[in-house]
Amino acid sequence: MKLVLATQNSGKISEFRQILADKSCISMRSLLDYPTIPDINENRSTFAGNSIKKAIEVSKHTDTATLADDSGLEVDALNGNPGILSARYAGKNATSDQLISKVLKELEGTPDTKRTARFRCAIALVIPSCTDGMVIEVVEGICEGKITFQKQGEDGFGYDPIFVPLGYNQTFAELGTEIKNKISHRAKALKLITKIILA
Ligand code: IMP
Repeated sequence: MKLVLATQNSGKISEFRQILADKSCISMRSLLDYPTIPDINENRSTFAGNSIKKAIEVSKHTDTATLADDSGLEVDALNGNPGILSARYAGKNATSDQLISKVLKELEGTPDTKRTARFRCAIALVIPSCTDGMVIEVVEGICEGKITFQKQGEDGFGYDPIFVPLGYNQTFAELGTEIKNKISHRAKALKLITKIILA
């Protein structure tokens, strides 16, 4: 089965590839292979809504089954922010360091017990079909955890250096991709959507 992954984010692409590594029946491309597809405005109010919008747009351009994800960090003490704004919380094209600094600044004075947070990932699958139109499935994966007081670790991307998943005492950036890809929000959502794809 040919699948297009609707992202240019190399961190996400390698996570998806690693998680799907033993599924030899799936051959995956990404938006890096389709540089002419225009940027998609992620303007829906939920992760699921944005993932469906991206998957529909990209499958129209590629005429290929498409997986799109939308994910982000929800911090309880910040009323669920950065949420769907996770990528641009510190402005358009903000670096990981800028995103992290903003969250840590907003959490100044917040004690450990109140630093609960979660990563959430919605994945939509759209399969163009001449008989049924488009088949749309959406799943969601959640990884609960806490926000640290400072950056810890070098691996990963985005908010990885300040997120400690529940049951661990190191951040995603310290735990490394092998462990992250077993327990992450994206891994959980991807497992659910893989079951649907293989069915
Ligand atoms: P999008 O899903 O590409 O719209 O971006 C979501 C943003 O949330 C990313 O740019 C990251 O800043 C953040 N994010 C999503 N998943 C992760 C993750 O697994 N680790 C760290 N940050 C993440």
